[in-house]
Amino acid sequence: MADSVLVLNAGSSSLKYSLVDAASGTAAGSGLVERIGEETGVLTHHGPDGSTRAERPFPDHESALRAALDAFAAWGPSLDEAGLSAVGHRVVHGGALFSAPALIDDDVVAAVTDLVPLAPLHNPANLRCIETARAVFDDLPQVAVFDTAFHQTLPPHAYTYALPSDWVEEMHIRRYGFHGTSYSFVTRSAADLLGRPVDGVNLVVLHLGNGASAAAVAGGRSVETSMGLSPLEGLVMGTRSGDVDPALHAHLHRQHGWSLDQIDRSLNRDSGLKGISGHNDFREVSRLRDRGDARATLAFDVFCHRIRKYVGAYYAVLGSVDAVVFTAGVGENSPAARAASVSGLERLGIAVDPVRNEAPDRGARFVSPEGSDVAVLVVPTNEEWEIAQQAMAVVREPAG
Ligand code: ADP
Repeated sequence: MADSVLVLNAGSSSLKYSLVDAASGTAAGSGLVERIGEETGVLTHHGPDGSTRAERPFPDHESALRAALDAFAAWGPSLDEAGLSAVGHRVVHGGALFSAPALIDDDVVAAVTDLVPLAPLHNPANLRCIETARAVFDDLPQVAVFDTAFHQTLPPHAYTYALPSDWVEEMHIRRYGFHGTSYSFVTRSAADLLGRPVDGVNLVVLHLGNGASAAAVAGGRSVETSMGLSPLEGLVMGTRSGDVDPALHAHLHRQHGWSLDQIDRSLNRDSGLKGISGHNDFREVSRLRDRGDARATLAFDVFCHRIRKYVGAYYAVLGSVDAVVFTAGVGENSPAARAASVSGLERLGIAVDPVRNEAPDRGARFVSPEGSDVAVLVVPTNEEWEIAQQAMAVVREPAG
C-alpha cells in the first residue's frame, strides 16, 4: 500500500490501533487493547486470518503499544511489508495551540505535555504512545491529529464562558470542543451526499457514541459545539452526565461531604445513561425500554430530549440549516433515537421519514422525507481514515 498509516488512538485505559490505507480507507489490520493498568488486560487483534484475543496485564500504554506491534508481527498483516508512510496519533487536547495536524518533533511533544492539565487522563496516554512509537519507528514521520482542532474556528462569543477574564488568560479556561476528527470526516461526507461544496453547507452534526456531542457547522466550519473545556459538558453520554448545574459540585461537597475526586469520578463514570438506567450501552437501554423498563425509558427520554434541545439551539445559532446529521454508534444504528431526537421539530422543517429511518441500510443516506426543507442524514463516521488522511496530508506538505 502506498499510503499505509498506522493509526493510534489512545484513551485513558485503552488503545485502538489500525493499519489504514489513506487513499481508500481500507484497514488491513486493527485491534484494541483494553483495561490498560488493570490486573488483567485484553488485546483483541483483527488480521487477515480473523480475530485473535489475548488476556494478560498491560501496565501502561507503552506495553500496550508494544503488544499491538507484536500482534501485527505474529498474526499479520506485516507492518514491514505494508511499508508504513506515517504513524498518525489521535491526540485529545491541542488547546488553542493547534488548529491543524502537526508533524511531531520535540517542540510538539513539549506543547502536548504543557496541555496535560487540560486533559489529565488523555494527553499522558497519547504522549506515552508518541514516545514509544518514536523510539520504535525511528525516522518514520509521525503526525499528531488533535480532537480539538476542528473547533478552533469557534468565534469568541461561542468559546468564551461568562467567567472572569483572567481565568482565560491565566488558566486557559474556555470551550474547546472534541470529536473533531469525526466532525471533519462527517462534514465532508454530508456535503458530498448533499451534492454541495463543503464550504457551502450549514449542518447540525450529532456524534452519538459512548461519548456524545453536537456541533453547529457553518460553511463547513465549526461555530458552536456542546463539549467545552473537557468532554464532560453537553449531551447525555454512556457514563458522563453532560450538562449539570455548575453549583452541583459545591452542593455535593458542602451538604454531603463529597471530595472533588469523588464528584469528578461520578460525573464521568457513573452518570449519563448508566446513572439513570444502570446501563451505559445504548443497545441494552433500548432492549430494556422495549420491554417497558421504567429506568431505561427515562434514560432514553433524557438522552433524546437533550439532543432535541441542542438541535433547536443550533438551528438558532446557524439561522439556516441544510441538514441534521446523525453519526457514531447510536446515531448510525438507532432509528428510535433518531426519531425521538427530532420529534416535534416539524415546524422547523426537520423530520424523519419512518420507512427511510427504519431501513436497515448502512451507508451515508437521507432519512428525511423527499423534499424536506432540512435534510436529515445518517453518515457513518470513520475517525481512523480521517486521521490517516490528515497524517498523509502533513507528510506530503512541502518542508518549510
Ligand atoms: P465510541 O467510539 O465512542 O466508543 P461508538 O461510536 O462505537 O462509541 O458507539 C457506541 C454506542 O453505540 C454504544 O452505546 C452502543 O450500544 C451503541 N450502538 C451500537 N450499535 C447499536 C445498535 N444497533 N442500536 C443501538 N445502539 C447501538
